[in-house]
Amino acid sequence: FADLLGKSVSEIMTKLIALGVFATINQEIDFDAASMVASDYGIEIEKEEEKEEVEVGLEQAEDRPEDLKERPPVITVMGHVDHGKTSLLDAIRKTHVTAKEAGGITQHIGASEVEVRGKKIVFLDTPGHEAFTSMRARGASVTDIAILVVAADDGVMPQTIEALSHAKAANVPIIVAMNKIDKPGINPDRVRQELADHGLLVEEWGGETINVPVSAHTGEGLDSLLEMILLVAEMQELKANPNRLASGTVIEAKLDKGRGPVATILVQNGTLKVGDPIVAGSAYGRVRAMVSDKGKNIKKAGPSTAVEILGLSDAPEAGDLFNAVKEDKIARQIGEKRKAKFREENLHATAKVTLEDLFKQIQEGSVKDLNIIVKADVQGSVEAVRQSMVKLSNEEVKVKVIHGGVGTITESDILLASASNAIIIGFNVRPSSAVSSLAERENVDLRTYRIIYEAIADVEAAMKGMLEPEY
Ligand code: GDP
Repeated sequence: FADLLGKSVSEIMTKLIALGVFATINQEIDFDAASMVASDYGIEIEKEEEKEEVEVGLEQAEDRPEDLKERPPVITVMGHVDHGKTSLLDAIRKTHVTAKEAGGITQHIGASEVEVRGKKIVFLDTPGHEAFTSMRARGASVTDIAILVVAADDGVMPQTIEALSHAKAANVPIIVAMNKIDKPGINPDRVRQELADHGLLVEEWGGETINVPVSAHTGEGLDSLLEMILLVAEMQELKANPNRLASGTVIEAKLDKGRGPVATILVQNGTLKVGDPIVAGSAYGRVRAMVSDKGKNIKKAGPSTAVEILGLSDAPEAGDLFNAVKEDKIARQIGEKRKAKFREENLHATAKVTLEDLFKQIQEGSVKDLNIIVKADVQGSVEAVRQSMVKLSNEEVKVKVIHGGVGTITESDILLASASNAIIIGFNVRPSSAVSSLAERENVDLRTYRIIYEAIADVEAAMKGMLEPEY
């Protein structure tokens, strides 16, 4: 700072001491102190734009509308277990990838491309809303349309409803594939009714949701399903700019014994080329080779293309975002900085929900569900608490009792709470000291009460930010 002002260090130190700042020669001083000293010399200083250092080298200009081109839709298949998600994906791949294209071997890279009327559709190979939501939890959004598979003979089941909520939460349009219509005695209207009961109204009944009867076994309806996907995609006007450095999301990644780190990525904007320096999560490198879902080596991949890439320093994680950058140096710098940041963050146990912080977390939007585990000495108390707690739900938070049982609080309760970000409430039961210290290590909020009313009052107060602090 003294150098910049063209003054001696001791002179600047004297000035600082006059301001009450006792700085050593290599100590950082804050902006206010620096600007006061500078103003003594008639110099005005400006604050440097504070940028997330990690992102330097990643920023790119916004796409101009005229540079945007239509891109293929990316699809996730969801639904209840055994309703035919995997069979449907297989059937679509078999019937819509020509033998010539496939060259006999389809490569399982995590996504597959099919062509309908000269237009491409990309399917993510891992079905289910869990995969979909875990990606979302990492900040990635890859799915343009969700196919909700409902077996016509079984109807709407718990995971159908879950999938529905997950897709809705992500604001992704839903197409219902009513599967197994080859089975005798099925009643599609019953399924439509059940969907309506859960807030999904099909077109035939005046709603907006397209539903297509299909059979993964006979292939019936698959063509119309694909047509409908293209139709919905057209309405969405999916676009990207192929003429820029590529960016997108890691779909899956692994460490291959022979080939080293291998990642399947979905290019979402720009075009990725062999030789491009790239950073994916904290992994970095240069694209050494790209393999398509048909097992072909390719040189470049445009928007909505899934490719397996080689050349990364290590395996990134599914859901990590990737960027092609101008120079190797930039990729390395960003990757190394992110690694350091992750190491630092891993030192601290992940923050869990606590009654003390609940209100703040609700305000920040980081808590939408308040998960509770209830343990009590008698079943009657468990039920009484369960019912009262659920009633505390409001627009901002939903209170859910994810587990309730009779008996003392156990290590397994703590682990369940830790994994599900839940708090534990005990009535007339006490944890052993081993269990208490596990709760502490796992950052789990564990509270014991003798009177049910007090527990309810505490949770209610915490939700409103009016909980008396514990001393
Ligand atoms: P997933 O758990 O949703 O992936 O379901 P699967 O694809 O594994 O299918 C579950 C079962 O349903 C398997 O035994 C399939 O053979 C069967 N299945 C899937 N699709 C159809 C269909 O269209 N018709 C009939 N009859 N059975 C089907």
